[in-house]
Amino acid sequence: MPQHFASDNYAGVCPEAFSALVAANAGHAMAYGDDEWTRRVSDRMRAIFETDCDVYFVFNGTAANSLALASLCQSYHSVICHELAHVITDECGAPEFFSNGAKLLPALGEFGKLNPGEVARLVEKRTDIHYPKPKVVTLTQATELGTLYRPEEIAAICAQARHYGLRVHMDGARFANAVASLGVSPADITWRAGVDVLCFGGTKMGLPVGEAVVFFDRRLSEDFAYRCKQAGQLASKMRFLAAPWLGMLEEGAWLRHAAHANAMAQRLSQGLADLPGLRLVAPTEANGVFVDVPDAVAAELRRRGWRFYNFIGGAARFMCSWDIEAETVDALLDDLRSLCVAG
Ligand SMILES: *Cc1c(COP(=O)(O)O)cnc(C)c1O
Repeated sequence: MPQHFASDNYAGVCPEAFSALVAANAGHAMAYGDDEWTRRVSDRMRAIFETDCDVYFVFNGTAANSLALASLCQSYHSVICHELAHVITDECGAPEFFSNGAKLLPALGEFGKLNPGEVARLVEKRTDIHYPKPKVVTLTQATELGTLYRPEEIAAICAQARHYGLRVHMDGARFANAVASLGVSPADITWRAGVDVLCFGGTKMGLPVGEAVVFFDRRLSEDFAYRCKQAGQLASKMRFLAAPWLGMLEEGAWLRHAAHANAMAQRLSQGLADLPGLRLVAPTEANGVFVDVPDAVAAELRRRGWRFYNFIGGAARFMCSWDIEAETVDALLDDLRSLCVAG
């Protein structure tokens, strides 16, 4: 199948992750995470985050987010998230299910981003016994609209959360794209800014499967291993979840691939900026381009074989994966140009 922009998940496994996976297949190893690969990649994470964090590996992002959120609250609590957040729009109620009923409270905010004022509004809206008590704020970095929180924006939201006694979770399905684009250290947009737990996305950045749940406040990870096991998320041959991470993180491949994906999104975004009839709905800051495309143009693009999603709200979403080629971006731009200019 040719390259597409529908999802970063259409792409395959990057070579660095793949060779680490093959290397991990040499003979026997201990099961359930007691192996050398899992230990090495956990140590590598502690080096990258410059802190003594606790690291767990699960199969996908829905499990990572739901189990992490469940560990931050009780069933009678609520979780403040942006109204477009994956946890509320795309996880089939898993956060509510795994927390035994904690409620997600949708917040407003431009370009997919939460802000301290919205946190305050939702906390103060109700303080009576009949309303689920807000206990967690969850941020997505990069956001569902391909935008980014700057370190100071995260710090301000975390400070507001602390003020009200709330914990902070970060959905980092595209964390690599955020780090590469902002050019910051991973610590600066997580624990140093006040984030308690990060779901660090592996799949979209080029692993075969798997996400890491990184606890910066280690008291919060008490019994997390049991939670994973009960949810069917404890990999028996854990080394095959862990080893690809090592290939990705050891020599900086994760940031190289993410920077490439971001650059391709910039190329697309700039290329379509002055085409008549098209309008970006959010600034392009990571690896996704969100653009209002006239229905007839979108239909004709699809007829020509391009695959892309209509994001919530209707804009066309073009995701650039780690391996998307400049030629693919240019071919899409050629088609857009011919359709838009032809009117
Ligand atoms: C893709 C994605 C996830 C993870 O989804 P799974 O399909 O469960 O792995 C989580 N959050 C965001 C913002 C995503 O884009």
